[in-house]
Order: sequence, then C-alpha cells, then structure tokens
Amino acid sequence: MRVRHYALGKFYVIDCPEGTRVARGSEQASDGLVSLHDHLVVPRNGTEIRIPADPPELLPLLAESGNFGVSLVGEPEPEVRLDGVSCPGCGQDDVTWLQLRAGSESVRCDACGTDFELPILTEPRVPASRRAGG
Ligand SMILES: [Zn+2]
Repeated sequence: MRVRHYALGKFYVIDCPEGTRVARGSEQASDGLVSLHDHLVVPRNGTEIRIPADPPELLPLLAESGNFGVSLVGEPEPEVRLDGVSCPGCGQDDVTWLQLRAGSESVRCDACGTDFELPILTEPRVPASRRAGG
C-alpha cells in the first residue's frame, strides 16, 4: 500500500508494507502508549514501527534510507491544490507562506493568520453523451 505524506511543500509517495495504518495522535495504541502526534504504524519483523508525522520531514528521510520497511516512490510532487491559491485575507499567493496542517484540508496563511479551505479539485468532465431513457 502507498501513503501520501505532505512535507516541506511537497507530497511524498511512500510505499508501505501490507497492514500499515495511520494512528491518530489521540488514539490509544494496543501497547497502551498514547502519543501526541499522528503516527504511521508499520508492521515489521513481528513488531510494529511507529513513525511520527512530526517533524514532517522525518518520514521521507526514513523512506529514503529504506531501513524501516517504507520506501520512497518516485520524486516528491508539489501540492497541486496549492497552485494558484491565494489567501482570501491578504492576497498572499506565495505558497511558501501557506501550510497544510496534518489531518486537515485547510491551509493557514502565516502572513495574516487566516485559515481557509483548499479548493476542491474538479473531476475531469464526463462527456454528456449518455441520455436517460435512451
Ligand atoms: Zn493572508
């Protein structure tokens, strides 16, 4: 299975072993530990490796090393939904000022502090060739 991880302005596609899951920070793990951050829980050699989502650059680093059962797939991609997006509060359109928060579809403008939703990507248009009742 693959997960997409957002770090440093880009999405990393990371290949994970079957059974990998994401544990939210508030979730209590089977071993009774409670963590503050979201984790990627990777089954490995009969145990579980927990990779925290914070700092965001950690997971790509581990994936690049290839030593934790996760591996980086391809090149990191820029977040396309941030392309051409500007802050409704101050008009800032430099994406380096905008941060996607973990577990959220909204971005925060560091310049003025406005939170706003990312635009929904429109689906490719389906040709209207089918008619009902035909
Ligand atoms: Zn702003």
